[in-house]
Amino acid sequence: MPTTARAVVVREVNGPITVETLQVKDPGPNEVLVKMAACGVCHSDLSAANGTIQMALPLVLGHEGAGIVQAVGSAVTEFKVGDTVLSSFVAMCGRCRYCSTGRPQLCDQPVRAALAAPGAVPRFTSDKGEGFNVFGACGVMAEYATLAVDSVVKIDKDMPLDKACLVSCGVMTGVGAALNTAQVQAGSICVVFGCGGVGLSAIQGCRIAGASMIVAVDTSDLKLQMAKDFGATHTVNAKSVEDVVKAIMKLTGGGADYAIECVGVGAVVAQAVNVLARGGMAVTVGVSAPTDSAPVRTLAMTAMERSLKGSYFGSARPREDFPRLIKMYRTGQLKLDELITKTYSVDEAPQAFADLAEGRNARGVILFD
Ligand SMILES: [Zn+2]
Ligand SMILES: [Zn+2]
Repeated sequence: MPTTARAVVVREVNGPITVETLQVKDPGPNEVLVKMAACGVCHSDLSAANGTIQMALPLVLGHEGAGIVQAVGSAVTEFKVGDTVLSSFVAMCGRCRYCSTGRPQLCDQPVRAALAAPGAVPRFTSDKGEGFNVFGACGVMAEYATLAVDSVVKIDKDMPLDKACLVSCGVMTGVGAALNTAQVQAGSICVVFGCGGVGLSAIQGCRIAGASMIVAVDTSDLKLQMAKDFGATHTVNAKSVEDVVKAIMKLTGGGADYAIECVGVGAVVAQAVNVLARGGMAVTVGVSAPTDSAPVRTLAMTAMERSLKGSYFGSARPREDFPRLIKMYRTGQLKLDELITKTYSVDEAPQAFADLAEGRNARGVILFD
């Protein structure tokens, strides 16, 4: 029996983000049907809507979701009805060269639900029979979603889902950049560029790792104030100093051990490299435009043994890391409540995206009934 759901969709690049009632596909043998409880509004959803990230359209948005399993496919053994789950936008096939070497964030499985795939059955259809793609094999900004078992992670039942959903993209990406990708060492000096949801999470990761100094950089005094609440020891407003790199070099007494870029602009990646001390590592986390690049001085890379590393999804191993982050929340090490600036109903999603575009929210969260 088909299920219908209010779903947040985009039909054309730079077109409006709208909410439509769609039919949700019944779960296939290796799929589960999830009743969504909450979905974070991530900048990547906006990037898919405005074409910065190219995805096949029409598209159901959402990849930062938490919900309860409603039905399971005939071959599903690891999930049962009533399980509390998070979505994961990396496929985690478990078999490719990346998954089998402990790097599921780099899984080379194609995004499964893309309608371009031969024989693909759409997860959502309109009443006119038109099929929809889903963001990152998820499409969880909807009241119900059918997901492959490889895109679902089980978590503790009693975890509040409005907080839990944040773990499945923004928090994992930021905290993971510090703990998994950079492997920040206790006592080290860290700089984090950009203090949105991901940057604030990177600051938390540095704090959890025991950094002795965490410098937050942004152009918004409001976000810099939040950065202090999440663990920044110092702040630099990039608009009010003449030279950001010089200001940070002075503040850190000769440079940082780690610089994490959460803006998505090549010029800021170059700044992250240029604030490093000898032996320091810059980590690029932000999603930049496809043609953007970062000019780095290669002699300084060699002579100072600086390095520059990419971090995708916080180098996450979702089945291990999602429950770990939730434990950190439970024990008071990881702040999630404070990340949620505002909550919205599914029908208020267009406003949530407008607020995101205006930089009003650390994180907006859509709550389903
Ligand atoms: Zn995201
Ligand atoms: Zn894989």
